[in-house]
Amino acid sequence: MSDLTIDLTAPNGKKFTLPTGLFINNEFVKSSSNQLITSINPTDESEICSVHAASASDVDAAVRAARSAFNHESWRDLPPTDRGALMYKLAGLIESHAETLASIETWDNGKPYSVALNEDLAEVVSCFRYYAGWADKIHGQTISTTPQKLAYTLRQPIGVCGQIIPWNYPLAMAAWKLGPALACGNTVVIKAAEQTPLSILYLAALIKEAGFPAGVVNVLNGYGKEAGAAIATHMDVDKIAFTGSTATGKQIMKMAAVNMKNITLETGGKSPLIVFEDADLEQAAKWAHIGIMSNQGQICTATSRLLVQAPIYQEFISKFHAAISSTSKVGDPFSESTFQGPQVTRAQYERVLSYIESGRSEGATLATGGHPQKDVGSGKGFFIEPTVFTDVRPEMKIYREEVFGPFVVVAKFETEDEALHMANDTTYGLGSAVFTRDVERAHRVAARIEAGMVWVNSSNDSDFRVPFGGVKQSGVGRELGEAGLEAYCQTKAVHVNLGTRL
Ligand code: NAD
Repeated sequence: MSDLTIDLTAPNGKKFTLPTGLFINNEFVKSSSNQLITSINPTDESEICSVHAASASDVDAAVRAARSAFNHESWRDLPPTDRGALMYKLAGLIESHAETLASIETWDNGKPYSVALNEDLAEVVSCFRYYAGWADKIHGQTISTTPQKLAYTLRQPIGVCGQIIPWNYPLAMAAWKLGPALACGNTVVIKAAEQTPLSILYLAALIKEAGFPAGVVNVLNGYGKEAGAAIATHMDVDKIAFTGSTATGKQIMKMAAVNMKNITLETGGKSPLIVFEDADLEQAAKWAHIGIMSNQGQICTATSRLLVQAPIYQEFISKFHAAISSTSKVGDPFSESTFQGPQVTRAQYERVLSYIESGRSEGATLATGGHPQKDVGSGKGFFIEPTVFTDVRPEMKIYREEVFGPFVVVAKFETEDEALHMANDTTYGLGSAVFTRDVERAHRVAARIEAGMVWVNSSNDSDFRVPFGGVKQSGVGRELGEAGLEAYCQTKAVHVNLGTRL
């Protein structure tokens, strides 16, 4: 181990060298405050390693690097096709290091290795390739006005973009934000979540290897209240993009007002999944299971409220229970048979347990689970049984608040209007799902539901080519797809006088 790298062997035997510094101006450097973050393996609570945590003055250094890269001809004047080529190169490097990156992700975050490799890493590679392809297809318009005038628009980068990402999909959230920002020609200061600081450092080394000019991408670890707040309040950051809790999103909005930053927020949810009596119940139960139990329930779009029509309520619950017992094996995330690993941290584990307590004390019926999963590995680790509460009423806390764990509530409705009323009776509006075989009803409900995304006869079917984001208190703006580019460029209007003489 040198000062700023460490040799590690993941629990699956994968060996690698990890940088531990702050990645500023294409170099790994120490934190100016010498503050460190220690990463904990959520499977057995052991320490993995410590990495440098940025202070406000480190954030300032990263922003200065990003500003000077933004103004430097090596990036500013790089033809967009060449920008795309750099991104394709990065995607290729990520693909060839996918097993190492997935091993780090599983070790640090607790998500099953097969998911990290086949879903998260596959998505990261696809996302960079998708936006690499966009880099030279971001065009303005010519606009007909009068014969004496030529009017056209330029779509230009916003400038220095601050990006603050969460711990539930560390690399995928980085890709969702870096991809469109770089395609549009911005420069970036990105901060990972303090709970999962490791995989982004390995990614930073690949960014350097791909050949991005110094300062185009700066990667920081650091605590939200210090490094995150320093990015959000920095007067020379032009845009802030954030994914995380609604409470923190609101704080970021306030902080971003200091210099009226352009803003994109992707926050929490309590997404409904509606099952009508004419649905294919087998399918509804399987998708309901995927929609809440995948990724340990730590998904902002998790369909965490199941609304089921009265005549099929009991039948659906027994099929849902069967889907959980046949699929939701809780265990070591490096084991191939594991569906559900540990919660990411002790804080999240305790948070889920406190909601289980709340469900009990509010009088909901605990139908499945409801305890820590004790029979896993060493007996340590943040494992929780998949938990289902039925007979949940809208006034209960567990019906209204985001839990962010393998925890779902089920409530009953009689009519389509009642289902829509219940689905929309929330401050959130991120995902939603509707199960029906009636094509008219499917589209009618899709139009009336207050959410950024609707899945008809599926759940959590996200796709990098399709816009992603929320309404109400689930966020501002969109990521992914062509819509995701809007968040990272601005339109300049040019009016050319072709002959009006005064
Ligand atoms: P958080 O929103 O506080 O953290 C997300 C990111 O924001 C991290 O990088 C963090 O360092 C940063 N941050 C925190 N406080 C900040 C501040 N004052 N200024 C700037 N940046 C700041 O989320 P959390 O505390 O890790 O998790 C709490 C809850 O948030 C979860 O239980 C879940 O409900 C929700 N959450 C949602 C998502 C999502 O994808 N929408 C992801 C993670 C957590």
